[in-house]
This record gives sequence, structure tokens and C-alpha cells, in this order.
Amino acid sequence: MTASALPILPTSVVGSYAIPAWLWAAWEKIGTGGFGAMDVVETENDAVAIAVHDQERAGVDLISDGEMRRQGFIVSIFKYFHGLRAIEPRRKVGILSYDGHVFYEPFERIAAPAGLGTLKELDYLRQVTTRPFKITLPGPLTLATQITKSGPYRDRVEIAADLATLINRELRALAARGARNLQLDDVYQSFIMDPKHLVELYDRCFEGVAAERRFWHICFGTLEGFGFGERTYRPLFPAISSATADQLVFEFANREMAESELWRELDCPKELGAGVLDLKNFYVESPELVARRIRRMLESVPAERLWINPDCGLARLPRHLAFAKLQALVAGTRQVRAELTGRRAS
Ligand SMILES: [Zn+2]
Repeated sequence: MTASALPILPTSVVGSYAIPAWLWAAWEKIGTGGFGAMDVVETENDAVAIAVHDQERAGVDLISDGEMRRQGFIVSIFKYFHGLRAIEPRRKVGILSYDGHVFYEPFERIAAPAGLGTLKELDYLRQVTTRPFKITLPGPLTLATQITKSGPYRDRVEIAADLATLINRELRALAARGARNLQLDDVYQSFIMDPKHLVELYDRCFEGVAAERRFWHICFGTLEGFGFGERTYRPLFPAISSATADQLVFEFANREMAESELWRELDCPKELGAGVLDLKNFYVESPELVARRIRRMLESVPAERLWINPDCGLARLPRHLAFAKLQALVAGTRQVRAELTGRRAS
């Protein structure tokens, strides 16, 4: 199926999938040097195959590889960077959160001579699925939040600008190898910069990238259920409406669909991937609740421009819950599709 063969209200995911129990156990062993390089590749391939299979079984139209090789969204990306020195986390015990991360200190201009690892993700995805899929990468500013301003850099904006160049090279390589759907993920941090600069950074990442659809997921953070920042997209407008992104992928469900009116009110020309699964909530939404949330979005966004997805990546959920929520997402979407096609037929 090509992306153009997608149904109305296509369902998708933001990126990461729930980690299987055995993979948590494998990571422990990998961390202590108990796996060889071939064992790691086999383990990661199996994890991707499971993430793909679960998404297909749930009926998701445009899937991902579950970011199974990433070990926590952005953590593994740092292994590709040269010029950075790891700094011990400032807090190591108790609740895991944003202050428990390893930070990095630049001692020279950041480089990634071997790329960022997504080409092998693309190659393996093609082996294990015939469905359309997206490849996702963290955005430059999100990566920069874990890098201190030192060495050749005066501030995070300069760091993010260099990272944007590296991301651009990766996205160009992905598109050249035939990846059609490419996404950047950013945690919105309104306190760091003017939205115009956020848009400039995104556009720099996608400069000259011949993708069919450019996605931009912006959320307020989901690490262990914690958000990060004031939960409003309004300050991003109108700047974000002129970004080169074809689709903005936003979270709504955990905010009880607040700001669902923005598309109509601000006449946003983009597609919207609307988050209708609340991942900071342990219950499984009923298909009826998902359908209600989609109908709410349809009051503001034309059906032709509306996609349906969870609020964020699913990596912070147990797998049984992630799978059940995806099933509800698909079932709820199918209810609304039936209503739409019924209306069109009459
Ligand atoms: Zn997110």
C-alpha cells in the first residue's frame, strides 16, 4: 500500500512502541557487556519485528519501527556524536526524570561522521513490513537540551544549529534511499526561544529533503509521565503555520482536547496528526471515547487533513496497555470513518 492509498482519517503512531519485557532484560545484560555485537543486532531486529507486528495486528495504517534500537528516544543517538564528553547525572536515585539524565559537554564542534543510525532502521523495516511507515528523529533543540553550552558553543541555539546540519544530512540520506515519511520530534520549550527560531531550525533540517510527507511532532514531554513546560500550542502560532512541515503531530487527549479549535480559529493550512490517546493515564480508552475525541477535532480540522495517533510515543507504557490503546484508537477511528462515508453517500 502506498501512502496515497491510505484511508480517510489515517491512523499512525508518534514513534516509539512499548518495550517487551525480555528487551528490558536484554538491555541489562547488554549494559554489562554480556552480549556480542551480533547478539545485539539479533535482539534489536527481533524487537523491531514485534513492534511492527503489534502495530499491524492493531490495524495501524502508517507504522514505525517502534524506535526499538533507540533505548529511550534520544539516548542512543548520542553514541553517534563526536566531540561530546558525558557528564554524570546530577541525580541518580529515586524517581527517574529529566534531572537524572546523562548530560554532554562539547569539547569541539559536534560531528556525526557515520550518520545517526536511521538508514539501518529503514533497511530492516523494509524487510519486515509492506505497510507504509515513518522514520523519526529527535529535533535539534530537543537534542541540545542535553548538551551544555561550553567548548566552541556560547549557547544552545548554536549547538542546535550544528545539530540541524547533521540531522539534515541524515534526512537527505533517508529520502535518497526512498524513505517517504520523515518526522522530527521536539519537546516544546517555550522558555528557550522564539517560535520563529524553532521553525527556522525545523526548516534547516528539511532543506533539500525530498520526502513525500514531513511530520513534526511537538509535545510537552512524557518521560515517566512527566510533562515539561506549559501545555499550550497557541504561542507557536502563527509562526508554525509557515514551517515546511506537511503535518503537525500534537497531543490533545491528556489535555482533555484543549485547543482543538486552533486549526479553524487560526486557519492553519497543515495536516494535523491529533493525539487522541492519553498516555499519562493508565486506563484503556473505549472506542466510543476515541470516536468522541475525533469528532471534536473534526469540528475544527477538515477530515481530509486529519490523522489520528496517540499523544506521544508509547515507550513509557507496559506493552499490554500500549497494544490495547492502539486497538481502541483503530476501532474508534473506524467508527468515525463509517459515519463520514455514510454522510458522503447520502
Ligand atoms: Zn511526544
